[in-house]
Amino acid sequence: MSEPGAPSPSPGPLRVCALYPDLMNIYADRGNLIVLERRCAWRGIDFELSSSGLGEQLDADAHDLFYIGGGQDRDQQLCAHDLIETKRDGLHGAAARGAVVLGVCGGYQLLGHSYILGADEIPGVGLLDVRTAREDGPRLIGNVAIEVSLGDESPVTDGNGRILAGFENHGGRTYLGPDARALGRVVKGHGNDGQSGFEGARSGNTIGTYLHGPLLPKNAWFADWLIAKALNVDPSELHPLDDALEREAHLSARRAAGL
Ligand code: GLN
Repeated sequence: MSEPGAPSPSPGPLRVCALYPDLMNIYADRGNLIVLERRCAWRGIDFELSSSGLGEQLDADAHDLFYIGGGQDRDQQLCAHDLIETKRDGLHGAAARGAVVLGVCGGYQLLGHSYILGADEIPGVGLLDVRTAREDGPRLIGNVAIEVSLGDESPVTDGNGRILAGFENHGGRTYLGPDARALGRVVKGHGNDGQSGFEGARSGNTIGTYLHGPLLPKNAWFADWLIAKALNVDPSELHPLDDALEREAHLSARRAAGL
C-alpha cells in the first residue's frame, strides 16, 4: 500500500508490438509509435517496443498493444498470408484478453475478413467484421474528420468532443458486416466507402481506421485512450500532460478538414 500523500505508482510497462514495421509503414506510421512512447515517458510509464515481421510468431501474452500501419497493395498481399499463417492465433488470443489492436489503412483492411483486389482475394485475420473491395472509381483521398463513438464514459476528449482528424488515401472501399460497429461518423471526408457516412470499425479493443500517417500526433487524446485501454486503467487515471502543442496540431488538422 502506498504512503498517504505519496504519488500513486505509475501503471505499466506498456508493451507495444509493431507488426511488419518495414513493410506496413508507408505513411510514417513510426510517428504513431513515437507518440505512444513519449506520452508514456512523460508520465513515468515504462515503454517496451518490439516488432514482428514476416515469418515471426506472435506471443499473445507478451504485448498490450499491437500496431499495424498502411501498406502498398503488393506488400499488403505479402503480409496478409504471413498474418494468417504465423500470427492469426496469437492476435486473436491477444484481442480476446483485451489487448489493443490498432490497424491503420492497409492494416485496417487486413484486420477484416478480406480485401478483394481484381481477381485476387487477400485474406484478413477476421478480427473485425468488415470486407474491403477495390472497385471502379477514384481513390478516396483527402483530409477527414470523424466524430468517434467509443461507447464508454471515459472523460478523454479533444477538449471539444471526440473528433479524430486526419488524412485518408485508399483505393479500397470497406463495408461493415452485421457484427461490426463503426469507429465513427464522417463529418468531413470519405470514410470507409465514400457513401455510408461511416469511418473505421471497432470490436472491443480492436480498432481499424483509414486515418493514416500521423493519426496519434494529430489526436493526442486518442493516443491516451489507447494507452489507458492497453494498460487496463481508466483514462482519467493517466497523469494530465501539458498538451498546448498537441492541441494546436489537432486544431490545425481539423481546420485542414474544413471543421
Ligand atoms: N493499399 C490499400 C488501398 O489502397 C491501403 C492503402 C493505404 O494503406 N493507404 O486501399
